[in-house]
This record gives sequence, C-alpha cells and structure tokens, in this order.
Amino acid sequence: MIVRLLFFILVFAIGWIIYRQFAKAIMAKSKSVKKMQTKKPHEEAMVKCATCGTFVPASHAVYDHNQTPFCSVEHKIEHQS
Ligand SMILES: [Zn+2]
Repeated sequence: MIVRLLFFILVFAIGWIIYRQFAKAIMAKSKSVKKMQTKKPHEEAMVKCATCGTFVPASHAVYDHNQTPFCSVEHKIEHQS
C-alpha cells in the first residue's frame, strides 16, 4: 500500500515538474513576443524636419514632392513659401 502511495506521489511530482517547465517555456515565449512588439516603434527611422529640425518618426512625417521630411503640414507650407 505504502509503496503504491509513494509511486503516485512520485508520478504527481514528475508531472508537476514537467508542467512547471512547460509553463515557464510558454511564459518566456510570450515575453519575447511582447519584447519584439515593444521594440518595433524604437526601430523606426527618425527623420529631421527641414523647417524646425525636430526629429519625427518616418511614418508620422509629412513629405513634399522632393521627399523632404517635415514634422507637420504647417512646416511643409512654411518651407515652400
Ligand atoms: Zn517642423
């Protein structure tokens, strides 16, 4: 009886260790995915406004026909006039 009980405890313990390792691996995986998602905006190229010299993300910049970047439409108009 006792041996059988010990066997069940052992099986439970091994199962628990495997479960912990599995949970740890999933946690690490989701953490790295999160890291990649937060890293993306920092990797975006910054462009300098031709009027005021402010650095703005390339996707947020306003471009004229010469592909000159500006921080806003107002500065684009100001630069052209
Ligand atoms: Zn500007």
